[in-house]
Amino acid sequence: MGMQRKGGISWCDATWGVLVGCTKVSAGCRNCWAEKAARLHYNASFPTGWDGTVQMFPDRLMEPNHYKKARRIAVGLMGDIFHTSVPRHFLDQLWATMGCCDSPDLRHLTFQILTKRPAEMLSYAKSRESSGMVFNLPNLWLGVSCENQATADERIPLLLQAPAAVRWVSAEPLLSGLILRDEWMHLGCRPTMDLPAGSGKLDWVIVGGESGPGARPMHPDWVRSIVKQCKSASIPVHVKQIHLNGKLSKNPTDWPEDLRVREFPEVRTGF
Ligand code: SF4
Repeated sequence: MGMQRKGGISWCDATWGVLVGCTKVSAGCRNCWAEKAARLHYNASFPTGWDGTVQMFPDRLMEPNHYKKARRIAVGLMGDIFHTSVPRHFLDQLWATMGCCDSPDLRHLTFQILTKRPAEMLSYAKSRESSGMVFNLPNLWLGVSCENQATADERIPLLLQAPAAVRWVSAEPLLSGLILRDEWMHLGCRPTMDLPAGSGKLDWVIVGGESGPGARPMHPDWVRSIVKQCKSASIPVHVKQIHLNGKLSKNPTDWPEDLRVREFPEVRTGF
């Protein structure tokens, strides 16, 4: 369960299993697939599911160096790397590996970090920068998961204050309609209470319905609206999976034509 080809995830090429373990934080966590996978593959550590334990795998930290071709690598999807049980020295080791991948012979690797804990992410960014260490890497994309308006309103403004090459939102599992606010989509809007001047904007949006037993339904109109909002703001949007006739479908050729969108942000080369 270390470095893996992407499996069913359309937005990355590989996953980097540097840790396993988490704590549920919001409605989107209810049917956490990683918790089910952990009980299957790491039952000795998680016999009752998530209990706040996070198991880290330092021996996997150098695994990305094995990739010789361009890869988008999702980091730590079996948990949340900004969980409070993950010590700073482990994050520092992760950043060291990802920073090495900025060397001329490893520039083909891009790292995608997704969190539901952007406050902790921002605090790590600030503490690195205040100790003279680089947080913002040109090959690092930072994202937050948002399942509804409340979590988007809470998490996106924090994400947009963190420095990153690409800032993105994963609206999965999408549990309601979502308004992507103007100040998240465009630079130069007036600062708001929770979004100070100088914050960034969203560069990418992913949408997906819930998978697995007991999956909560996602209305196609919620997806349609997000696609439309992204198109009108010229922000790349990527529909990962939708519910079709009560079943999860990952095959865009089966979907309504206007939902068959799988875009990626433009990648800078030769940084
Ligand atoms: S944050 Fe992610 S990994 Fe952690 S419980 Fe929630 S869905 Fe699962």
